[in-house]
Amino acid sequence: MSVCKERAWKALTDLSFERVTGTPDEKKAAEMIIAECAKSGVEAHLESYEIDMPQITKAFFAVTEPEYKEYVCIALGKSGETPDEGIEAPLVYIENAVDANLIDVAGKICLVQGRTGPDFTKKLADRGALAYVTMRGNFYEDPAMKTELRPGSVFGKSDVQVPALSIHIKDAEELVRMHPAKVKVIVKQDGEAKGQSQNVVATVEGTDPVLKKEVLVFTAHYDSVRYSSGAWDNMTGSITILELLHHFAENPAKRTVKFVWCGSEEIGLVGSREYCKAHKDELENYIFNINFDMTGVTLGYEYLCCSASEDVMHAIEYVAKLNGYPLTAKMDLYASDSTSFANAGVPSCSFARLNPMGGATIHNRHDTMEHLDPDSFMITLNFVVLLSEQILNAPVNVIPRKFAPDLEKKMEERKKRMAEMEKKEAEKKEEKAEEKKEESKAE
Ligand SMILES: [Zn+2]
Repeated sequence: MSVCKERAWKALTDLSFERVTGTPDEKKAAEMIIAECAKSGVEAHLESYEIDMPQITKAFFAVTEPEYKEYVCIALGKSGETPDEGIEAPLVYIENAVDANLIDVAGKICLVQGRTGPDFTKKLADRGALAYVTMRGNFYEDPAMKTELRPGSVFGKSDVQVPALSIHIKDAEELVRMHPAKVKVIVKQDGEAKGQSQNVVATVEGTDPVLKKEVLVFTAHYDSVRYSSGAWDNMTGSITILELLHHFAENPAKRTVKFVWCGSEEIGLVGSREYCKAHKDELENYIFNINFDMTGVTLGYEYLCCSASEDVMHAIEYVAKLNGYPLTAKMDLYASDSTSFANAGVPSCSFARLNPMGGATIHNRHDTMEHLDPDSFMITLNFVVLLSEQILNAPVNVIPRKFAPDLEKKMEERKKRMAEMEKKEAEKKEEKAEEKKEESKAE
């Protein structure tokens, strides 16, 4: 038995429960994955690391003028805090926050859609906005249900803070029509609080005395967001690499295969970043990273996001054609753990089975087993067994250690931005330490 549909489906069903980063449930899932590896006689282990785990103590949003009305809301972790009594100010809808939306935000609370991040926060702070409100969920849900709001934190580090919360998209629509004269926002949190998360790591050593030095690493994140069983995103990927482990345990390849189930992907690829940091000295022997993030959806199409050289992408497309595997491939960085490996210099790629418009969704309570299907699940898995066997048993390494020129440029720019952010963060820490010293002197 190489890979097994029934075994995979059972494991997928058993492990599809809420597994939020840093919680006992995430740890429980990690232990269950270790137990699954043991069934093939492979000893997996945990590798722990510290994570940001902001503790929200208060989130409040209401229209105060002309008529008082409270709304269900959640605070955005690490965004900042208001005074205890909150901030009361006019509300302005800034759409997707392009510059022309930001002309009139000084002294106001901004309602925004779309992605926010450190750059966005800085833009708002520079223009004098007091707080911002994002929207979650979809029009076909009940806005009174808090479970429709995906809790989250501001990604990355920022040198400025603007308190923020999320409301339901239906409420957002109501507010834009209402033009309230004043709204009130309260956000209280310990944004510095820490927690612990872990990766699960397993190895099947290569059989060739020389080639076994070279490593192919399979990854998939096993954490989920709150209120979501994360069946599609991403227990499907996690079980895909579990089946690959069963396969290679039974049929060892010439090269070594590593398996990393990453924690904390949903808070910014933290698990894979920590893995690359902890294993920095080994990475030069890693020839390729194959990541899976969301497979097995019933209605979907097979997608590959490649972060490697053009040769590699075309070769995979070619193997796909030879085997009648319907693949759509693109060269880019994927919003998943393959990006951490690419950033660390390891050519990587992510396989996904993506949904049609109006199909299955993720990061909410609707991401359950309902829209998944065992036969669809096997499509990606069967192809990658074929593909990785060829890479792992080839007499010479077929993955050049380089990236497509456009991709490399993009990565360089990102690296520069990250370095700047880290520098600012370090400066801020130093300043704080200085302040503390001064304070203790004064006492
Ligand atoms: Zn995911």
